[in-house]
Amino acid sequence: MCLVCDRIEMIKNGTNPYFVKELKTGYVVIGDNQHFYGYTLFLYKSHQYKELFQMDPEERTVFLMEMTQVAEAVSRAFGAEKMNYELLGMGDVHLHWHLYPRRTGDIETYGNKGKGPVWWYPMEKMYSDENRPTPEELEDMKRKLLDELNQICE
Ligand SMILES: [Zn+2]
Repeated sequence: MCLVCDRIEMIKNGTNPYFVKELKTGYVVIGDNQHFYGYTLFLYKSHQYKELFQMDPEERTVFLMEMTQVAEAVSRAFGAEKMNYELLGMGDVHLHWHLYPRRTGDIETYGNKGKGPVWWYPMEKMYSDENRPTPEELEDMKRKLLDELNQICE
């Protein structure tokens, strides 16, 4: 079973507390862990593709455009110095974007003297339960992001 499909099923059932908005090609959800404040995912609706280059070009264009809109909304809602966009798929082979707002010093002195991808921050710190938003914080984040998405997306 696929973790991304599981989360989408929860969205459809109305039981995913991280769900923010449905777009044409995917779902916007707040990340479970918030060391990188504002970390958001954009989940493609279907499990059918492993690679972007397998997608129908028109569908891919919409998917990429919507991902870009989500990134802009995240940047505006949470104040990024720079957005990071990542589509990996070695864990769960279901097209999903990790959208990270980045700020100077956010990986402390890890990586190349504090510079580098989020993945150079230790996994146990990145996924620590201490980084999980409280229900109140989560509601606040969802409201901020939804406001921006509603302005940016049709
Ligand atoms: Zn899936």
